[in-house]
Amino acid sequence: MSRVTSDGELLPAKEICELKLTLTTSQFALLERAREVLAAAGSVPTDAEIFMKAVGDLLTKRDPLRKAERAAARQRNLDDDLGGRNNNVEKTVENNNAVVASPHDGPTIAAARQRENTAGRYIPAAVRHQVWLRDQGQCRHMHPDGSRCQEKMMIELDHIDLHCRGGEHSASNLQLKCRLHNHFAAAAAFGNEWYRHKLESVTYVRDS
Ligand SMILES: [Zn+2]
Repeated sequence: MSRVTSDGELLPAKEICELKLTLTTSQFALLERAREVLAAAGSVPTDAEIFMKAVGDLLTKRDPLRKAERAAARQRNLDDDLGGRNNNVEKTVENNNAVVASPHDGPTIAAARQRENTAGRYIPAAVRHQVWLRDQGQCRHMHPDGSRCQEKMMIELDHIDLHCRGGEHSASNLQLKCRLHNHFAAAAAFGNEWYRHKLESVTYVRDS
């Protein structure tokens, strides 16, 4: 009856996926504990509700795309605050890096920080977030027919100019690649037998 609108129109049924879960008794005890924790205001959650709450929490904590969206929102708020109150704060946006230099940094510290951001071992979070948002968590490899690789699983950050050959950690020099196409690029760059072997042996197992 919930599919009938007030005008008497029948809404299409939502597609349902059934999931069969086999748990050990100790895992089941954890599920029951989650039910106790989530039970509130006289309502006891169903297994599906507990499952979806857990998935939601996991994605909030672990999804790089969501993290990037939150970081971008924080940056926008910060920009609004700074824009309204303080025009002396210098913002350094170089190589598309959203790196904010503190007004207290001397020129040496700011330069050192910038060097570290583009040449160090770790890709700065601001750059990582920018690349994830721009590429929307999907491999950037283009197939010969002009279509884009649809893969969103096992996504890695790929340096267009190789980092080991001086390529920077900048958004313009980074792109998202699935594991397969990242190895493909590595094989093309190094011509290494090991990478060729990897490329041949990597397959994704996926129900669809
Ligand atoms: Zn790919």
